[in-house]
Amino acid sequence: MGKRVKCFVCGTSLNKNEMGLNKKLIGITSDKSFCIECLSAYLDTTVEDLLEKIEDFKNEGCTLFE
Ligand SMILES: [Zn+2]
Repeated sequence: MGKRVKCFVCGTSLNKNEMGLNKKLIGITSDKSFCIECLSAYLDTTVEDLLEKIEDFKNEGCTLFE
């Protein structure tokens, strides 16, 4: 069983897409992971923009997303 990843800011458990976004946008070397809401604040963007990015990554065939 894998370790459950939680948001560094609010403690919400991350889903697969959120974990994929963290890897793509912050990098797997970071020990800080963010849920999509906190990630949008951290990156100074919007949740809608991040959801679009998830769709883009999926369309590229990235297996980090579902
Ligand atoms: Zn959060």
